[in-house]
Amino acid sequence: MPGGYAWRVCLAGREVSGTRAPHLRNVLRSFQDRDNSWFNINRECTSSMPAPYKNLARLGFSPYVALMHNPYLVIVLSLLIGFTLFHMWIEWLNLSALKPEIPAEFEGVYDAEKYAKSQAYLRENTRVDMVTGVIKTSVLIAFILLGGFRWIFDVAVGVSDHLILQGLVFVGLLMLLSSVWGLPFQIYDTFVIEEKYGFNKTTPKTFVLDFIKGLLLGVVIGAPLFAALIYFFDTAGGNAWWICWVVVTVVQLFLMYVAPVVILPLFNKFEPLEDGELRSALESYADEQGFQLSGLFKIDGSKRSTRANAYFTGFGKNRRIALYDTLIDNHSQDELVAILAHEVGHAKCKHIHKQLLIGILSTGFLFGLLQHFIQQPGLYEAFGLPGESPPPIYAGLIFFSFLYTPIAALLGILTSVLSRKFEYEADAFAVRTTRGANPLIQGLKKLSVDNLSNLTPHPWMVFLEYSHPPVLQRIQAMRTLEKP
Ligand SMILES: [Zn+2]
Repeated sequence: MPGGYAWRVCLAGREVSGTRAPHLRNVLRSFQDRDNSWFNINRECTSSMPAPYKNLARLGFSPYVALMHNPYLVIVLSLLIGFTLFHMWIEWLNLSALKPEIPAEFEGVYDAEKYAKSQAYLRENTRVDMVTGVIKTSVLIAFILLGGFRWIFDVAVGVSDHLILQGLVFVGLLMLLSSVWGLPFQIYDTFVIEEKYGFNKTTPKTFVLDFIKGLLLGVVIGAPLFAALIYFFDTAGGNAWWICWVVVTVVQLFLMYVAPVVILPLFNKFEPLEDGELRSALESYADEQGFQLSGLFKIDGSKRSTRANAYFTGFGKNRRIALYDTLIDNHSQDELVAILAHEVGHAKCKHIHKQLLIGILSTGFLFGLLQHFIQQPGLYEAFGLPGESPPPIYAGLIFFSFLYTPIAALLGILTSVLSRKFEYEADAFAVRTTRGANPLIQGLKKLSVDNLSNLTPHPWMVFLEYSHPPVLQRIQAMRTLEKP
């Protein structure tokens, strides 16, 4: 019927009706077979909608306007759009902070051409990031509004009557879908951008293997854990939140303990650093500091990228210090000792323990809130699922993560503030315990140039997202330490 047709929608005791464009029919039809308590079509209804909605509905904005009656949906959509726009604004600020002149500290380290290249790299990455953000958010919103979650829920219910099995199918399908959907973006990043700027060393084979290993790990670790969460939220009543908190914490600690020996070697080859001048220099530094250096490893970072790094992982007898082969190849012995000293500084100042403790506390906070929201029918209805008792709580675990984003963002900011403070402390430790500030400063400069790091990020970008202080501020802090 071209030109429009009469329609009438009733939801949550409120009625909308009107005559509007033909496309509306298709939208309505897609909802027609869903027997949601809040969205029944063509049902008699006595109460009426508030005027603004009614007017909008008359203009043809329904049924999405009608959907907006669910406050959870309004919150989730606003958060998705708000975060995407805010992030784009910060990235734009960050780009506008770029200046063509090389900072005095880096004269002679960077030549003009390479400095320009580092800025081109940042510009290109930012552009891609913005476009990716808009595409991903739009697709996610479309997925929510067009009933994507409902579709996956129907599949899961079709597979089994058992709550835990349903939950595993539901989450498994979602994870698979989101990994596959993320692939093109990852491929573009690795094989187009990183390749163009000379960083990429990943072969298609390594890329495919990484993807498969990642999925398998997700199944092996994620599935039993998720099953346990469903079980406790289904059976433990008001105690579920703290039981799940304990379970997740124990699993997390166990994974941290075994990761260096069991998980990381799946992705990289760990070789004990060969005997020689470098090893003895590193060992004698560790000895001086009374630091047990049981595992000093060289890893094949060059398998994936030319970027260099060093890190400290695990605890107890699985504690390891891993130096990338790319780091060893490009740095002098003094610089490497200073980098090790920085890592030892993190351990000596108990940074890892402190961060772990904060992580555990925020997990508890998350489960405490989850306990409240997981029983709210509106949360399920926002995503097109039945929310009346008993709701499919496995889906609630996922839907809650949408509501949690602002809290996660706040905690993320707090964690990075703390992490930047820890970096200064570890730098200070290295300066105190090695031959002054110079080796670490030289090492950091080389790392920045080799990684084409942004030397002048916008302060807001640093505040919101940087886990490490900008290199110029680190250098300045170390120089002040050295002054008598
Ligand atoms: Zn550090």
